[in-house]
Amino acid sequence: MYKTHKIRLNLTKQQEQHFWKAAGIARFVFNYGLERWKKQYNESLINHDTKKPSEFVLKKKFNAIKREQFPFVLDVSKSVSEGAFKDLGRAFANFFRRVKRGDAKVGYPHFKSRKRTKPAFYLANDRFDITGHCLKIQKCSGIINMAEELRFEGKIISGRVSRDCLHWYIAIGVEIEPPNHIHQKESVGIDLGIKTLVTLSDDGLQYENQRLYKSELSKLKCLSRKAARRKIGSNRREKARLELAKLHLKIANRRNDYIHKMTTEIARIYRIIGIEDLNVAGMVKNHNLAQALSDASFAEIRRQLEYKAQWFNGLVVPIYRFFPSSKLCSVCGAIKAELTLDNRVYVCGCGNVMDRDWNAATNINAEALRIVAGMAISTLKMDVEMNVRPNSRQLSVKRQLNNGVHNYTPER
Ligand SMILES: [Zn+2]
Repeated sequence: MYKTHKIRLNLTKQQEQHFWKAAGIARFVFNYGLERWKKQYNESLINHDTKKPSEFVLKKKFNAIKREQFPFVLDVSKSVSEGAFKDLGRAFANFFRRVKRGDAKVGYPHFKSRKRTKPAFYLANDRFDITGHCLKIQKCSGIINMAEELRFEGKIISGRVSRDCLHWYIAIGVEIEPPNHIHQKESVGIDLGIKTLVTLSDDGLQYENQRLYKSELSKLKCLSRKAARRKIGSNRREKARLELAKLHLKIANRRNDYIHKMTTEIARIYRIIGIEDLNVAGMVKNHNLAQALSDASFAEIRRQLEYKAQWFNGLVVPIYRFFPSSKLCSVCGAIKAELTLDNRVYVCGCGNVMDRDWNAATNINAEALRIVAGMAISTLKMDVEMNVRPNSRQLSVKRQLNNGVHNYTPER
């Protein structure tokens, strides 16, 4: 399996210059390729002898002329421009996929900008070397100091260098064997919320929503006003801008750290993880909820749980969007017609009185087990009922089940 470790780099002035140059070249090559792509595509519409553009043909053409027309690209590793073409190919593949799927927003690939695009470039595994804290990159002078050693042992697959507002980093992809992990518990249901970020069906265990963004909002506002007051292009404005960027980064880092620790814990303990298939993109459009939801980073939690569960040989089971997890009584199965967001306690005629989120998480857990037990039938039924094709995640769950990876039968 593939794991990535991102390590902060301590660069000399000279090395930093080299990195800025490499990132600039990556951006230049991407933009060059994108322009050619557009041009060739338009020509192919008029003249049928012209082929549709592709990443590989464009790269070949570029390599043929680079020595003469763009000799500066030879100052950095060859994989910088190769990586840029790969990025371009991926950008178009994503675009075509969205068009094919009929998404409302298809997002044609756009040019990278010096100001807005994050500086970054690729390194193929044969273009850099690592020993302990030392990193050696082809065509970059001297030895680069890494803030920590690579934490994985195994074959190095790739490297990607990037920068935030303060530091440069290298993300190293390594191929490693997953651990032979045994989960402490069989399954859990997860309810995602704004008041409480995550509620588990297991004893109603909760993870608070830190609401970092909200708590730091006054500080953020103060800093951005400060930056806006200063003269455009002045050193003082640049200084204020950096101060603001640092605070944003600090918030993001704290949030990431919290979510990572939480998802690792969940994926380590529970083998089957049921989670609602929320339409996060759709919810963020609702402006009342927007800030709180972005704060909660639901999509990121889901993404981390998925790859971590895979790592520990567990399984994330998405529960379809319209499952009434909150309205259902987890004891008798009755469904409440009315339930507002203010009702924090679920009260049922059968005598069940339970925390609202815990009740929902319990329902999600039961539903996940039901899906795992009768996957084939349930998926089929769902396709017909909702008139949709199962998404790739559901298909991968199905595939794993068919392969006999998880032959779970719940005791019900
Ligand atoms: Zn009940």
